[in-house]
Amino acid sequence: MIGIFGGTFDPIHYGHLRSALEVKDSFKLTEVRLIPCAKPAHREQPSVRTDNRLQMLQLAIKNQTELTIDTRELDRHSLSREVPSYMVDTLKSLRQDLKDEPLLLIIGSDAFKQLTNWHQWPQLFDYAHIVVLTRPGFVTQQMDDFFKDRLTKEKGELAQTTAGKLFMEQITQLDISATAIRNMIANKQNPAYLLPDAVIEYIKKNKLYETN
Ligand code: ATP
Repeated sequence: MIGIFGGTFDPIHYGHLRSALEVKDSFKLTEVRLIPCAKPAHREQPSVRTDNRLQMLQLAIKNQTELTIDTRELDRHSLSREVPSYMVDTLKSLRQDLKDEPLLLIIGSDAFKQLTNWHQWPQLFDYAHIVVLTRPGFVTQQMDDFFKDRLTKEKGELAQTTAGKLFMEQITQLDISATAIRNMIANKQNPAYLLPDAVIEYIKKNKLYETN
């Protein structure tokens, strides 16, 4: 089973890294791929260049073997700049490469709340399972039937099919956001311990996020 963790990573921080690692361990995944988004469809565009975001990702995962980077959304964008990075297209292309491997799309509960606004969202379940990173006490009763029908509490079920299930995974809560980090830097505050030192050094060296 392979985990897919998409994001703008503007910048990558320990909230992303810790979540990815916990899901990897919890589901015994062979790999978790961080997939930087080129042109988000449902939110404002990233505030720094794509190459900067990619280099920060590379620095964040350097010297470890737990996480990998998959640049297919960036590669697609360099071919066709107008088309937004739709996750459904990304999963389709991963499915072509990975054949019958179960895929886990990992998303935060904030992203899950917005999921029904995503392009062709029901089709995401044709290509992958979705694992939502939740807080303790997350309420599933309020879900639509579409989601309730796919919801499982049996982790083992995800390995038995390639796609189609929904799982709520409680993870260590780290209340860190890229928005807060960008604001800290713009306000000349020190973001140490919220993201890797190598990423902080890169941000300083390249004078990123210094203005709001
Ligand atoms: P921004 O503040 O710019 O919106 P972000 O910190 O939410 O950024 P993204 O790159 O937009 O980061 O998020 C990528 C994915 O990581 C999303 O699914 C999001 O829900 C999840 N995520 C972000 N921060 C955390 C966190 N602290 N804990 C768990 N999941 C997170």
